[in-house]
Amino acid sequence: MILKAVILFLAFMGLLAIFGKKKVTKKKPPAKRVETAQKCPKCGSYRIGTGDCACGKS
Ligand SMILES: [Zn+2]
Repeated sequence: MILKAVILFLAFMGLLAIFGKKKVTKKKPPAKRVETAQKCPKCGSYRIGTGDCACGKS
């Protein structure tokens, strides 16, 4: 039973890796915007939503 689960998990991960590689080679997701737009410039922590940071320095 456990062995079957492991085999299924490995097969699933293999499929994910194959599809993931196909997606990466086709198009790269834009991840730069998240780093610059949603990080607090004062404390460096990620902000939630568009409001001010919880540190209160901004
Ligand atoms: Zn902050």
